[in-house]
Amino acid sequence: MNSILVVGSVALDSVETRAGKSEEALGGSATYFSLAARHFAPVKIVGVVGEDFPARHREMLEKGGIDLSGLETAKGRTFRWSGSYTADFNAANTLDTQLNVFAEFDPKLSSAHKECPVLFLANIDPELQMEVLSQMKGPKIVAADTMNFWIDSKKAAVKELLGRVDILFVNEQEAQSLSGADGNVAAAKILTGWGPSVVVIKKGEHGALLYAGRKVYPFPAYPKESIEDPTGAGDSFGGGFMGALSVDPDLSNHSNLKRAAVYGSVLASFNVESFSTERLEGLTRDALDARAREYVELLSVDFEPVPA
Ligand code: AMP
Repeated sequence: MNSILVVGSVALDSVETRAGKSEEALGGSATYFSLAARHFAPVKIVGVVGEDFPARHREMLEKGGIDLSGLETAKGRTFRWSGSYTADFNAANTLDTQLNVFAEFDPKLSSAHKECPVLFLANIDPELQMEVLSQMKGPKIVAADTMNFWIDSKKAAVKELLGRVDILFVNEQEAQSLSGADGNVAAAKILTGWGPSVVVIKKGEHGALLYAGRKVYPFPAYPKESIEDPTGAGDSFGGGFMGALSVDPDLSNHSNLKRAAVYGSVLASFNVESFSTERLEGLTRDALDARAREYVELLSVDFEPVPA
């Protein structure tokens, strides 16, 4: 089995949505990613938390089979993010970002980490993402996520990173601000020109667009009547996608990529059902596969042209 290494934030998030609010709850890009990807492959996190990080979060992740040998505890406070969402849940407003222990983080990979065949550079400082990548020993697939915070403050580093990855995950505002294009297809085309052969553009409740080998595959979001908290939807999409892909990491096989996008969409739909990581924590593989089957049923259309 191809194990997956993820570097990214492990955070304490304070979030407000139309459905309620949570204070200092478990979050972070690496956290959501690994809780989604663990259904398919062993996952190891590389990251840092502060001395204030609650032991129960570590225990929950370890019980879930996630390898935390690369999750360092440093002197200081854990990374904190707080945000609120518009009433339609589609746009996150960052209220505060406190890098805390991430500001000084200098990741040193063990030999087991360096040998992982699949690497996911979750949303974190692009310079740290490159630092981790440069320590790896010939991974089969490298994927990266980023966000406006880094595109606005370190665009050159984000662009340099893109030259070294196979798959890029971004949301539509990020794709457009990074590429300078107005539409998603045009943005994906420009971004593949900078390095990655596959670009996934996430569009919140409007689903995701998979761009590979100049082909565009749209994936709607699994329709839900009510949402509690969209935080981590993008990272759980990434975790489902990379987890499923790790089983057969051949990027030229578009059936593989499409199956990965199905799992990404379904994991994101579970994640938004609760605040923080609650829904992902209890999710079984059976429930995941059942919703994946239901989702592909929704996608299929029997079509015959109307007789002329
Ligand atoms: P998303 O999947 O895009 O909703 O990601 C949400 C997670 O990203 C939250 O749990 C935050 O802790 C984390 N996050 C927000 N801003 C940053 C940042 N600048 N660097 C790293 N992680 C972040």
